[in-house]
Formats: sequence, C-alpha cells, structure tokens
Amino acid sequence: MTTNTAAPLQAGFAKVDIPRTDPTTTTDPLYANIDAATINDRLYVKALVLRQGNTTAVLVTVDAVAIAEIGTIRDDYLANVRTKLHANLQIEASSVLINASHCHGVVCSDIVERTVEAVKKAAQNMVPVRVGAGTGHEDRIMENRRLPLENGREADVRHAYSMPPDDEVAGVGPVDPEIGILKLERENGQTFAIVYNFACHPIQGVPSGGNTADLSGFASKVIEDCSNEGTVALFLQGCAGDINPVRYKDVDQPRDAEPLGNLLGLSTLRALRDIPSKKGATLKIINESLALPRADLQQSIGELQEKQQQLLESLNGTTLNLKTFLPLMVKYHLAPESPSYYSHRYMHEEKTGRNHLAKLDADNRHNMQQYTENIHTMEELTRVQENLRLLQMHQAQNAAAGEDTLEVELVGLRIGDFVLTTFPGELSVQTGLSLKKASPHALTFIAGVTNGYIYYTPTAKQLENRGGAQEDSDCLLAPEWQELYENKAVEILQKL
Ligand SMILES: [Zn+2]
Repeated sequence: MTTNTAAPLQAGFAKVDIPRTDPTTTTDPLYANIDAATINDRLYVKALVLRQGNTTAVLVTVDAVAIAEIGTIRDDYLANVRTKLHANLQIEASSVLINASHCHGVVCSDIVERTVEAVKKAAQNMVPVRVGAGTGHEDRIMENRRLPLENGREADVRHAYSMPPDDEVAGVGPVDPEIGILKLERENGQTFAIVYNFACHPIQGVPSGGNTADLSGFASKVIEDCSNEGTVALFLQGCAGDINPVRYKDVDQPRDAEPLGNLLGLSTLRALRDIPSKKGATLKIINESLALPRADLQQSIGELQEKQQQLLESLNGTTLNLKTFLPLMVKYHLAPESPSYYSHRYMHEEKTGRNHLAKLDADNRHNMQQYTENIHTMEELTRVQENLRLLQMHQAQNAAAGEDTLEVELVGLRIGDFVLTTFPGELSVQTGLSLKKASPHALTFIAGVTNGYIYYTPTAKQLENRGGAQEDSDCLLAPEWQELYENKAVEILQKL
C-alpha cells in the first residue's frame, strides 16, 4: 500500500470514444440484438489519473460488457494496457483499476491503444483538486431479476428463455438504490470530474437497435451536459449480478435505455448539489490477490440432465395444436358460460334434456389444460437447456484450467471519504449490501466487473439453486468463495 496525505491531491481526466466503426460483423450471440453498424450513441473509455506525492491511482471506465472472457475485448487487454502505461508513464500495474460498465456495446478493435491514449491525455493535464463524497438515491429504474418460486427454487428474468408462470412466482429480491458519488473540483470550485457507482445491468437496449452505451452511457451524458463545461462523468458498475433494468421483457413498447439513464443521471445531479468538497483529501490504493475455489459441476449437470429427461417424458399427447388451441382460448375466456355457440342454444339444450355442448366444452377445457401444461413444460425446458449449457461450459473451463483455484485481483481505493473495493466477477446485490454494512467507512462502495472477468459470482445461498437461474449456472466457483471473498474485502476496507 502506498499513501501520502501531506502532498496536494492532483487529478487529470480524458475520454476517448470507442465504438466499432469498421464493417466487420461480430457473430457473438451476446450482440445478436445489436446492429453494430448503426451508432445510436457514443461509447467511451474514460480515464481519471490521481496523484498525491508518490501515490498514483488510475481509474478507467469502459463502455463494454467485460474486459476479458466475453464480448469483444480480448483476455490480454488489461496486461497490455498495464505494460504500455508502465513503459510510457512509469505507472505501476497495481495502480490501475479498469471497470467495465457491462453494457453490451460493440467496441473498436484498437481498444488497448485508445485506453492508453485516454490515460496519457489525463496524465498530461493534472491540476490540484478538491474532493467531495456522498450518496444519491434511485429506485425507479431497476429490479431484482431472481424470482423465488413456490417450489423453493429460483428462476430469473432473461431474454434467453421464458418466464415461469405468474402463479409459481413467490416473491422478488432486493435492490440497492444507493448511488455512490465522488466529485472532484478545481481549486476555484468548478466541477472537474464525477465518479458514480450504481448496481444495474445496462442492457435495456435502444429502439433503433443500434450500438449503445445503454443506461449508464445516457446517465453519464446527462451528468456531463448539466455540469461545468468539459466535466467528465465516470460510471462504475456495482453489484449488479442479479439486477436488471425495469421492463426488461417489455413487448408492448420499444425498450429504451435513455429514459432510465436520464433518471439515474438526474438523481446523481440532485445529490451532487448537497455534497460539499474540501481540500486535503487522502489518496490510498491497495492491490491484493485472492485464490477462490473452483466448483466441480458434475453433480449439478447430472441432476439437470435428469430433470431435462423428466420434463421431456412428461409432455402429454393432446389433440390440439397451436392453430386449434388459440381460437379456443379466446372463446372460453370471452364467454365462459356459453363459449361454443350463442347462449340460447345452451338454454334450448337444457330444456330438451341434452348436454352435448356441455360435454364438448368439458372435453375442450381438458384438452386446453393439457396443451397449456405442455407449453409450460416446453418453457421450462428452455430454461433447463440454457442453464445446462452454461454448467457444461464452465465445467470444461475448470477442467482445462488444471487448477482447483481461480486467482482474482482485488483493489481498495480511498479518495477522501470515498472508499471503493473492487472484484472481477458479477457480484449479487446482496453481497454489496452486506459489505457496505460490514465496512468501517460510512461511504463504502463496491465495483464488480473490475480488473478481469470471472462470470457471475452469486452468494453461497444462491448457489444452492445451481442450474435454476443464470447467475448460479454461469459461475466457475464453489459456494465457499463467498466467505473467503467477503473476509478479504473487509480486511482491505479496514486497511483503507
Ligand atoms: Zn451480466
């Protein structure tokens, strides 16, 4: 750890845009719904360089899904950026923190060079700064995407598969409405840079279908547009593993990240007005590594394959098909007392002692019930098969790694009263809420998807549901990871 409180804190920032402009199309299914050739809004890599005496911290945010493993940024990105920063600016690798917003934008192929360019520019324009830290509140734009079910399991809200039927959903989990805010001002009180931390997947998309930095990009734009000329806003993704934008599965209105981002940006601006800034802030940065246990997923895979087979075998034979089922559904809901003909025909049958229509209705209702059950089974199969694929992928990755543990990098950063700790996985919101509570610092914030990418890292409790939802299936780790990580994170927070 390096720390220096005596010297003045200096900072510089820059942003460089990074959308993919070359005509190459990506075949990655992650971008299946994005028309990369259409630029809806700009994607950026932004850099904030902080220096106090011989302590340097470089905070980089990038509008991308992750900085390794998934998406268009390659696995050697972080190492390459660090090598170049060391060579060009004598910045140590341990001083560099890179957070991916986790938006599903398609970025340019020379992202390493553009990141280095942003940091270089930032380092060339350092000025003394005053610092303020505080929080804002936003609870209108996101929801927990994991759904506890009546049967004790959990499902989740994805485009990759169907939702469970409404009557099987027993509740909904928590969100974290807190916006963590750091503001940097020039010595004359002019806003200089704003760093804000919030937990929500920025994956709403835009009506044009074009390339977008999504809701965090729009939030940053609102903050920048409404602050002093030239201010830069840097979004730090929080513990958003199980947090989605609201109305993520809307099929009645074009899904649009812009109003959601505007709300987040305005809530951040509202909070900023009440955050005082002061001189004499302390800069500290800690960089540590931790080995986390990889999971053996064979048992979960076996259980899910068994479930898949059971579901397949439970499909009932039925006389209906989609063409006959749909008109029946309409008729039996429109006129439940006399669905098959006008009511007088039912009255006439009753008077003449016949029950032919009643018999037809009973048969149709039974067949519709069977057909609906088949549909629900089919929908459940979409969930089972997608999660099975994820489990098999990660079992293969763990086998190929040839090690029982996975090394991760954790950063602790203090800038005045703003305290941050980072993790490379997609942390669940509960982990963020617990760590904030356990921290000795009032203004503690947690950033996931930082300095690497290790897929989802749900809580040990969520991992009891392995195979049931994306987070618990799209995970390399054994449940013991959580306690090891949380203990280490608290240790880092205490050192800050
Ligand atoms: Zn995600």
